[in-house]
Amino acid sequence: MSKKCTCGFQGTPPHEDIYDCIEYEEVQSGKKKGQWMIDWAKKSKKSEAKRKPSGFNAWVDKSEKKG
Ligand SMILES: [Zn+2]
Repeated sequence: MSKKCTCGFQGTPPHEDIYDCIEYEEVQSGKKKGQWMIDWAKKSKKSEAKRKPSGFNAWVDKSEKKG
């Protein structure tokens, strides 16, 4: 078992890094392999939006409340 493996996987190929463990656990729980990356990309897009000028956020807030 690789030292870098956090999930305890003992098969082959051995997990080389944390992402192997994440993807392995995804497959085990019936998720799509690589879903974590998609979720992560979505999250980072969200936090990017938060960093936009306050004028933009104000506009988004307004239009969200309207809807
Ligand atoms: Zn692992």
